[in-house]
Amino acid sequence: MARDPRYDILFEPIKIGPVTAPNRFYQVPHCNGMGRVFPDSMIAMRGMKAEGGWGIVCTEQCDFHPTADITPYTETRLWDDADIGYLAGMCDAVHEHGSLAGLELVHNGHGVGNLYSREIPIGPSHRPVEYYNYPGQARAMDKQDILDYRRWHRNAALRGKEAGFDLVIVYHGHDGTVPSHFLSKRQNQRTDEYGGSLENRLRLFRELLEETKDAVGDTMGVICRFAVDEMMGSEGLEWEHEGRDALELIADLPDMWDVNVSDWANDSMTSRFAPEGYQEDYVRFVKQVTSKPVSTVGRYTSPDAMVSAIRKGVVDLIGAARPTIADPFLPRKIEEGRLEDIRECIGCNICVAWDMLSAPIRCTQNPTMSEEWRKGWHPEQIAEKETDSHILVVGSGPAGLEAAHQLGKRGYQVTLAEARRELGGRVTRESGLPGLSAWARVRDYRLGQIQEMMNVEVFLESEMTAAQVLEFGADHVCLATGATWRHDGVGRANRYPVLGMDKDNVLTPDDIMDGKRPPEGPVVIFDDDHYYLGGVVGELLSAEGYDVAIVTPATVVADWTRYTLEQGHIENRLKQVGITILTRRNVLRVSPTEVTVLDTLTDREKTLQGSMVSVTMRLPNDGLYNDLMALGYSEKNAEIKSVRRIGDCYGPSLIASATYEGHKYARELDTELNTDAVPFKRECTSWS
Ligand code: ADP
Ligand code: SF4
Repeated sequence: MARDPRYDILFEPIKIGPVTAPNRFYQVPHCNGMGRVFPDSMIAMRGMKAEGGWGIVCTEQCDFHPTADITPYTETRLWDDADIGYLAGMCDAVHEHGSLAGLELVHNGHGVGNLYSREIPIGPSHRPVEYYNYPGQARAMDKQDILDYRRWHRNAALRGKEAGFDLVIVYHGHDGTVPSHFLSKRQNQRTDEYGGSLENRLRLFRELLEETKDAVGDTMGVICRFAVDEMMGSEGLEWEHEGRDALELIADLPDMWDVNVSDWANDSMTSRFAPEGYQEDYVRFVKQVTSKPVSTVGRYTSPDAMVSAIRKGVVDLIGAARPTIADPFLPRKIEEGRLEDIRECIGCNICVAWDMLSAPIRCTQNPTMSEEWRKGWHPEQIAEKETDSHILVVGSGPAGLEAAHQLGKRGYQVTLAEARRELGGRVTRESGLPGLSAWARVRDYRLGQIQEMMNVEVFLESEMTAAQVLEFGADHVCLATGATWRHDGVGRANRYPVLGMDKDNVLTPDDIMDGKRPPEGPVVIFDDDHYYLGGVVGELLSAEGYDVAIVTPATVVADWTRYTLEQGHIENRLKQVGITILTRRNVLRVSPTEVTVLDTLTDREKTLQGSMVSVTMRLPNDGLYNDLMALGYSEKNAEIKSVRRIGDCYGPSLIASATYEGHKYARELDTELNTDAVPFKRECTSWS
């Protein structure tokens, strides 16, 4: 199919200094937990973005000196010539598809502890290091330090040129770089020409831009990545004040502006807290003050929203990180008029979490992310079937849907049986909770694909028993029957059932999603899951008029969401809607109207009035599997060649795990599995 002419503007080339991007699709720098530690994986992932049509593909942050050592995070690094090789490899992978490669140079100053290099951190003023309250300080840079810093930056740009990059990004964002620390009134207490007035605080950044242009500007475009608002009121940069004033002072110095809000938790807000294009209000002034091309991000996945942002005069290029992860082929799909094939990012930040955990990133929507090199998985291609097998997939949650979709794509005959009236399992059910409507995209993308496949048939309201499965006569059976939340309080904090916690006294998220409600009055939510559901259920009940308290054994509410950059947003939201948050509390016993908790800090007991909603852990729905085994099914004596469990029914986990499991099942069907072997290629670390 041809592309819709409405989207032509997205495919116009755009000049950035001495280079020209082939289109308006700009994969902004994004961390990915691979970088220097897993270079082959990183290179293949970047190459895939270029193959998918992103006209500019950038590195993640690239620290350029041992005083900018971001250990334990695994990003790119350009400390000396020894680091040029793998970055050149990335440039080649990007150039192979006609895209431009961009290098983001970053020095995190007092944001990092230099745990590997052991150098003393540096910054504009003496400051404690911010990395997890590390008990060391950054020292204030003197004049010689500033000269050294400028030279390191210049040399890194020159090395980037040698590696083959077309673009270099001078980074001033996220309250996380030396130049942003210099600009910040609250970080910079200097009294010399680098402190005080706005011009002085901006001096270092201006020098970096000028020197980068001087060093490499003949062949490379110089992009300024700049946060115009820190979303903290007058404590920080505000786009109406110094954000704008600073930008005006250097408006035409770079070849392009990549503008956003700060810090990372604001820039990469999840869909629970911000809609597509949410940064436009902050950055729309930029094009009025510069003649250079402008880009911003905002989780753009809809070509209409992209075109609108350009037509409205907010931007010239569409910046994207998460949409490129969820669908590396998004531009190509627009170009080929295949909008229904776009796998839209759901804005869950699981990708961010894996980077925060220093592991290769995962994506809820794109199970092939980070597997391009080590497993050879392509997001759009999968091998044709090897046999004429008929596969019965039981359960249509993210695991079952992904398995059915990919098996169908391989050409197998697939039957998908679902007990409920609707498809989607947990993503359908959870997408009805406050802030989670984007979860439904996990279902909608796969459903859209399956509906076009003649070889995939779907049966709703078809709860399968073991006898029916055996009778059905499929060659392979894939059980994706999900998991169920426990009522008894067992989880991390409690290894044994809690006194009084049972189905009569306690509701779980499953009950709430089934429409059950506690009796009128106060409700205590016991959140020993530490992810999003406890808070989301709290929001729902609070909106319905319940007086809600959340009790958690952790030191903060929704503790794990620190990795998805949501913890602060969640805490604020819960406080705003009037939910009481009680941390470091475990539940001791429960009655229909009272919950007795132990304060683990003071060792004191307290009885709270209210009924209980418990969010602790789930148990696999593996009854069907057990029945099949009990009926004497064995891979040797039945017509059925294999019965496998995938997703939550095998091991309850993230939605991202379920889509991955479904994908893996489909990829591996009909292949001989060696469970003793490492199931992927490993990066080779050399030693002398
Ligand atoms: P996952 O995250 O692993 O995909 P979900 O809980 O989202 O798991 O989905 C499991 C789906 O399986 C649910 O929609 C559920 O209704 C369905 N299901 C469970 N048991 C059966 C069964 N015996 N027959 C058909 N469908 C089932
Ligand atoms: Fe989007 Fe979630 Fe995938 Fe990240 S993990 S790209 S936020 S769908």
